[in-house]
Amino acid sequence: MTDTRRRALIAALVGVLGASVGVAGAGHVYLREWRRGFAWFTFVLGVGLVLVSVSVDPTTLTMASLTDLPSEVTAPIFVLLFLSAFDAYYLAARGHPRSDGLQCPVCRGELDPEVTFCPWCATEFETPPRGPETFDAESVRSETE
Ligand SMILES: [Zn+2]
Repeated sequence: MTDTRRRALIAALVGVLGASVGVAGAGHVYLREWRRGFAWFTFVLGVGLVLVSVSVDPTTLTMASLTDLPSEVTAPIFVLLFLSAFDAYYLAARGHPRSDGLQCPVCRGELDPEVTFCPWCATEFETPPRGPETFDAESVRSETE
């Protein structure tokens, strides 16, 4: 088993464990994908609050009704929770951060050579980062100019 594959499986496992206690983004925390994990956590929490508010009458809301939510509330939340676990698996399985592609010097995130900012940590670059194959030509040219 490769490191990437093992990392993906652990991320999925942590994500599912988190999901089983109602916490989205646990797998992302394992992957140190803080922003994405936090986004998942707040997204699922927000969806849950909206679903609860539309399906449970606030005037009759008790702790008992919160622990015995209708399936219209719990089913979508469970789907989202497990989607977040799958997302963590997908992130790890595709090998982020990759060592062979372009990497952000700040967060080691995978970069698109066409953009001048990092989509993972929003760091802006003065020039688009270069791959290893173009880096030498570029630096040589700028030295001779
Ligand atoms: Zn970055």
